Amino acid sequence: MKKKSNELENWLKEISEVPGPSGFESRVRELMVQRLGGTCEVLKDNIGSVIFKKQGQTAGPNIMLAAHMDEIGFLVKTITKEGYLKFVTLGGWWEQVMLGQRITVMTAKGDIPGVIGSKPPHVLSAEERKKMVTKKEMYIDIGALDKKDAEERMGVTPGVPAVPFTSFTLMANPDFLVGKAWDDRVGCAIVTDVLQQLGEVKHSNTVFGVGTVQEEVGCRGAKTSADVIGPQVAIAVDTCIAGDTPGMSEDQASAKLGGGVAVCIYDASLIPHVKLRDFVLETAREAGIPFQLEFSEGGGTDGGRIHLHAQGVPSIVLSVPTRYIHSHNGIISRKDYESTVKLILELVKKLDGKKVRELLD
Ligand SMILES: [Zn+2]
Repeated sequence: MKKKSNELENWLKEISEVPGPSGFESRVRELMVQRLGGTCEVLKDNIGSVIFKKQGQTAGPNIMLAAHMDEIGFLVKTITKEGYLKFVTLGGWWEQVMLGQRITVMTAKGDIPGVIGSKPPHVLSAEERKKMVTKKEMYIDIGALDKKDAEERMGVTPGVPAVPFTSFTLMANPDFLVGKAWDDRVGCAIVTDVLQQLGEVKHSNTVFGVGTVQEEVGCRGAKTSADVIGPQVAIAVDTCIAGDTPGMSEDQASAKLGGGVAVCIYDASLIPHVKLRDFVLETAREAGIPFQLEFSEGGGTDGGRIHLHAQGVPSIVLSVPTRYIHSHNGIISRKDYESTVKLILELVKKLDGKKVRELLD
């Protein structure tokens, strides 16, 4: 049992720490291919998403499990003559969590460390201290002597991406895991885990586990990968806002760490298919899998794109509640990871042709 939990920790460390902002997901893709390439047929779309196909006892119905490989990050826009990097953000950043943070700049010559620079409070006026510093005023410090040093010695050019630098860490409560990019590497880990475990399970359908690209900038890979698959049912596996921290109310976010897989009842881009949702809840209850309900008035996932594919695809989102989402240090619970894997496996076992026809009736 101990060994198994170490294996999971190592895998989560690897997939959390690997850099892969929107548009630059290739290293995440490689990790997933390393794990699944031998057991699944590997397909792709034309913008970088990877699709792992595992046929069970029958060909179809096609069940799509989608998790996005990209994380929020930065892209170098210009280099100042002093050697500092001005940047645009990739995905949704809140300025308050950016300043003073360490990042990894992915140059053509390799990864180098950087810091998002800020003025010390000592030199700020009382008025200035109250104001939020905007992204436009910020810069990345890579320790370059000047522009030439940044370009020629360090290999930094406009278009070079960067991501948060955070070491995966177990908290004093070892069920709680700190890391960057849980949104949505925890989903990538879950989809990978499900496909590996499906090797020993009978399922009358074809499962397509997908690592999508560019979710954080508009769910782009969800659209293109659904075109490759032609799914009849889709489950987006993602993170959701944890509401169990000071200042948050149940009305803002109801999911709690350790409360089990979060079943989405509403988000800004998807009203989950009602029969599919009820089937998911019934399956969780019957199998005794801890679950909780989740809603998001201010965000969407790949599910929002996939359910509009072709003539429509019954879709739902299953999530792992995450504290401090879209910052350098997210916290998730191992228990929620495990219940999400379990529930998806149970659903896949039951989603045969008859069940899918019932859902569509
Ligand atoms: Zn996400």
